[in-house]
Amino acid sequence: MGKTDRLYQLSPLWLQNGMVSLYGAWWHWLRFGGDYSRYTKEIRQREFFTGSQWQEFQQAKLIDLLRLCVDDVPYYKNNWSQLQKESALIGDLTKLPLLEKKALRGFEPSFLRRGSGGLFKQTFYTSGTTGTPISTTFTLSELRESLAVREVRSANWAEVSFTQPRATFSGRMVEPDSEEKQHVYRYNAAEKQVYFSAFHLSPNTAHSYVEALKKYKVVWLTGYAVSYYLLARYILEQQIEVPPLKAIITTSEKLTEQMRSIMEKAYRCKVYEEYSTVESALFASECEHGRLHVSPDIGIVEILRPDGTPCAPGEVGEVVTTCLFRSYQPLIRFRLGDLAAWDPEPCPCGRQMPVIKEVVGRIEDVVTGPDGRQLVRFHGIFVDQPNIIEGQIIQESLRNFRVKVICTKNFSESDVVEIKKRMTQRLGSDVDINVEQVEIIPRTAAGKFKAVISNLKND
Ligand SMILES: [Zn+2]
Repeated sequence: MGKTDRLYQLSPLWLQNGMVSLYGAWWHWLRFGGDYSRYTKEIRQREFFTGSQWQEFQQAKLIDLLRLCVDDVPYYKNNWSQLQKESALIGDLTKLPLLEKKALRGFEPSFLRRGSGGLFKQTFYTSGTTGTPISTTFTLSELRESLAVREVRSANWAEVSFTQPRATFSGRMVEPDSEEKQHVYRYNAAEKQVYFSAFHLSPNTAHSYVEALKKYKVVWLTGYAVSYYLLARYILEQQIEVPPLKAIITTSEKLTEQMRSIMEKAYRCKVYEEYSTVESALFASECEHGRLHVSPDIGIVEILRPDGTPCAPGEVGEVVTTCLFRSYQPLIRFRLGDLAAWDPEPCPCGRQMPVIKEVVGRIEDVVTGPDGRQLVRFHGIFVDQPNIIEGQIIQESLRNFRVKVICTKNFSESDVVEIKKRMTQRLGSDVDINVEQVEIIPRTAAGKFKAVISNLKND
């Protein structure tokens, strides 16, 4: 815990709100100052580029970026072979090696290009699954560009904007006391933003979240998909009256069709999905037709087979991205650990930006059957199970599975039978499944929900 965090936690509520607002004022300047409005204008202008305009744009950016890597970034200078450097100089990405997350961990400075990068650089951390966070550093301009794309292609596509009051569910620990039920949010006046705690959401606290929406006249919601989904369930069950909202833009966690429909019913507005990473290594957002468009000016996205060749349209593969707008700490062919597929159907919105059919999950969330078959989308077993509020599958060994469920009072033995039936349909009958009813399902350190956990590597 940092000194600032400790000070925050020891402060009374009024001072905590003051600190949040002061931090907000500073953050507001970082975000909206300098080149921000120029970036939003340019991003908007590129939106209806033709396919060949995008190609030209990307290739020009890529050649500049790769040249910089060869000349000025120690990691690439030291690790790429002569042949790879020659490919880099002509902008041939396919000959370059994939970059593992573990290559970055602990060696982040060797990815920084020579030179200071200017004042007020911002460093962010990803929690990761192995415990050691990876840091990523943005220059001030890069930070502003990453936010500008969010404003134009996420908020504006959903017909809302950063200037309107919004609420955010994130891993930010707004309430240090885990037993405290009343103050489950904090308000940042400078940004007109309510920070919701993902750690305190329960049937008993649901009304406090909705009250905050009314109190601060919140227009749209953004952040963790599962938290908004759970709040939606409580709203429907307890018939809590929700003020009119314009949109919800979910991030960080997978949004299933079932979650989307329950959320649209509870909040009575459209739900949009955003797919990005802490590094802003790629950016994808949903247009008015509900298609997930990749922003080609943010990164070159590849979806690859295990042998490194590109997947055919519709074929699920690993997402690898080259971040084009960040040249201070370049990430070239970065393995995100996500699985996705391209959608070849053109979008009626007319934008020539590639469409991702579905982000099916994380590689680490793959479940393996006793016969070696590998299954993604496993959380699908909870679809159309009205008595299950939240479910998690834990693979303990090749044959042993635990299923944790939070249920409604109507949950019965027949639901357990249904869960087991669906699992054996996918895995074969040679498995042992234990269904446990629980009160809560713990989140990761960043407050995220994991639908599938595989402990197989420890087996
Ligand atoms: Zn579209």
